[in-house]
Amino acid sequence: MYDYHIHSHFSSDCDVDMEEMIQKSINIGLKEICFTDHIDYDYQDSSISFEFHIPSYISHINALIGKYKNHIKILRGVEIGIQPHIVEMCDQLVTEGKFDFVISSIHTADKKDIHLGDFFVGKTPREAYEKYFSELLICTKEFKNFNVLGHMNLLKRYHHHVEIQDIKDYFHIIEEIFKSLIHNGKGIEVNTSGFRYGLGETVPCKEILSFYKSLGGEIITIGSDAHTPEQLACKFDYTYDLLKEIGFKYIAVFENREPIFKKI
Ligand SMILES: [Zn+2]
Ligand SMILES: [Zn+2]
Repeated sequence: MYDYHIHSHFSSDCDVDMEEMIQKSINIGLKEICFTDHIDYDYQDSSISFEFHIPSYISHINALIGKYKNHIKILRGVEIGIQPHIVEMCDQLVTEGKFDFVISSIHTADKKDIHLGDFFVGKTPREAYEKYFSELLICTKEFKNFNVLGHMNLLKRYHHHVEIQDIKDYFHIIEEIFKSLIHNGKGIEVNTSGFRYGLGETVPCKEILSFYKSLGGEIITIGSDAHTPEQLACKFDYTYDLLKEIGFKYIAVFENREPIFKKI
């Protein structure tokens, strides 16, 4: 199995050493892992900074690639927190970083934090969902230097107490997002962290994944979004079955930012 969304001590919200993540991955039999530590420029919670020194990050991973080369394949990735006003900065960062794989994620919308919930203040659930997906569409069209869109519909992960929304009401915006992704050779990830947040499902959910498939979407990676070793490859068996059930025949892994398809 291939876990394409893993954090380490280079992310401000994670204090697990990279090597610990690698050893656990080897123990549970993963073939490939990709570190995707957080860079979120202009993050809307000033008490935390999601930035790190990229050359140190790359050289740290390179040393571990050498050390564990006979046991597991390790990739140099990044999870970029994208916002419409920082597209250029992110583009430059990715170009200079020479990563193997890039996840583009929205952690804030409307310049407000989704995790803490500021984003929801003063909005009806419907307004929040519309704003979130509209901003995701803008970012997807304007920022091109990535491989997959991270955890689509993150709103649900943090605020599932918000009045349940029928996701089909937003399919007109999601369709545009998917068409843009497919046209530009990008994909999405299926993130299994929804299970540890009590959602009982992946992020995005089956309905959105099926919609992506029906529009011709093929590039899909699986990531646990692990911040501790125990969270690695969480619910991957379930997710492989889910993807097969939807009709996906392959998942993607990456080399030099290019997808390679693996049969599931
Ligand atoms: Zn994220
Ligand atoms: Zn993450």
